[in-house]
Amino acid sequence: MSTYNVVIIGSGPGGYVAAIRCAQLGLKTAIIEKYDTLGGTCLNVGCIPSKALLDSSEHFHKAEKEFGEHGIQTGKLTVDLNQMIKRKDDVVDQTCKGVAFLMKKNKIDVYYGIGSFKDKETISIHGKEGKKEEIKAEKVIIATGSKPVIIPGIEYDKKRVITSTEALKLKEIPNHLIIIGGGVIGLELGSVYARLGSKITVVEFADRLISGMDSTLSKELQKVLKKLGFDFHFKTKVNSAKTKGNKVILTASNSKGENISLEGDYCLIAVGRKAYTEGLGLENVGIETDDRGKINIDENLQTKVPGIYAIGDVVKGAMLAHKAEEEGIFVAETIAGQKPHINYNLIPGVVYTWPEVASVGYTEEQLKEKSVNYKVGSFPIRALGRARASMDIDGLIKVLADKKTDEILGVHMIGPRVADLIAEAVVAMEYRASAEDVARMSHAHPTYTEAMKEACLAATENRALHL
Ligand code: FAD
Ligand code: NAD
Repeated sequence: MSTYNVVIIGSGPGGYVAAIRCAQLGLKTAIIEKYDTLGGTCLNVGCIPSKALLDSSEHFHKAEKEFGEHGIQTGKLTVDLNQMIKRKDDVVDQTCKGVAFLMKKNKIDVYYGIGSFKDKETISIHGKEGKKEEIKAEKVIIATGSKPVIIPGIEYDKKRVITSTEALKLKEIPNHLIIIGGGVIGLELGSVYARLGSKITVVEFADRLISGMDSTLSKELQKVLKKLGFDFHFKTKVNSAKTKGNKVILTASNSKGENISLEGDYCLIAVGRKAYTEGLGLENVGIETDDRGKINIDENLQTKVPGIYAIGDVVKGAMLAHKAEEEGIFVAETIAGQKPHINYNLIPGVVYTWPEVASVGYTEEQLKEKSVNYKVGSFPIRALGRARASMDIDGLIKVLADKKTDEILGVHMIGPRVADLIAEAVVAMEYRASAEDVARMSHAHPTYTEAMKEACLAATENRALHL
């Protein structure tokens, strides 16, 4: 039986990054994946395929709505959805193969099958066609990720009532796509189909979109999505969704007690994801989960069983690929005897709509709740020369800084390429920069980054230059 210093169960961004870091640190490492391709949710049915479709659909949207103004005449445009999906599949394929290459390069043994604890050191692997083998591990990292939540009353048939997994491979453009949940998945995939011509109706339980983010971003995003043709029902609870022939009928009730009935041809369930631990045999080692099914861990991401760690979506915290990656590195370095650190407050959140939304640190709502004395500097994207040149004028950057010390406490952005721009805020905040520190740094002209400088100027002494 093969013996390893570290065995990792699950090959998503948490698991495969942990494996690479373990190997870099000289640990003999194996990774187990139940599917035929590596990369987990993120590479196969999450981050990468959704961004591939977001980019394709945005090209179409721009060609249809903006090229004329740029002086580019295209004639009538059509969408070849099959080709769009095929390109997405090719991107996924290349990316997953890239992970397999990285495993080989780092001499990490890959086992395909369901990994399950027989005891604390022995993992059974149930492969295809009844193939079964066992391996021994000194340490184990559980990185088994998450699956979509399906709420009661929803008849998830995977054909018309679907989750993100099916929405990434539809055979036709919906006429009317109803989306349950105005969070990240709903708004990203809703954007894809809205740009391709679908009518989109979002039914959301909360009183605003992306309710975990700063409310300024919710308001701005709602405005731009409305322009794209989205319809919204807030404070509305879905009671049922059922397929009837080629239609989906959804019933819901709102906070005024009114009943709502909607008819569409597809319904996307996007109400969150839950930790996935099925088949892991946690009961054989006495590992417990919390009331939401997440594996309980301590400050070193160790379960109550010494030597068994858990990371990524299967544990508490944001369900994000880069959070899972940081935790993978953290555990690998901890196992190797190092003393790593993760600043959870500085894990950025991004929504890849257009304009993009990005956020790091405290929201205004959180600062109010904590009674922190703060000041606000805000700068609209439309005031940038770069934005007018590219015709991407929607959005703003808002900087929240401590009123007394000027330290940046939170940065909230909506605008073109802010998914990339947010990195500047993360660096500044990691080094505990003041708004004035950033305001005094040179930002290339003309770029979108100037909005960050201007928002910091606005926060410093209300002295934005181009307002
Ligand atoms: P996962 O990526 O879920 O990987 C877990 C792996 O473990 C899976 O491959 C699974 O098959 C395997 N596994 C489970 N049980 C076993 C077992 N017993 N034995 C062997 N293998 C097992 N996050 C971002 O940061 N940015 C984005 O843009 C983004 N977009 C997303 C879009 C969509 C549509 C979705 C659904 C998610 C998106 N996410 C995004 C979230 C991101 O995908 C997850 O946060 C991330 O994949 C979590 O990584 P993980 O390693 O914890 O788990
Ligand atoms: P989410 O938590 O972002 O949004 C779910 C939304 O559904 C919330 O607004 C919630 O109020 C609403 N909701 C819950 N129950 C409801 C009900 N019964 N009726 C109506 N609305 C209801 O979850 P998601 O969009 O499903 O995404 C799942 C996870 O995947 C998230 O944690 C997210 O971090 C991750 N993800 C990240 C990205 C990204 O980083 N760009 C993209 C996609 C997914």
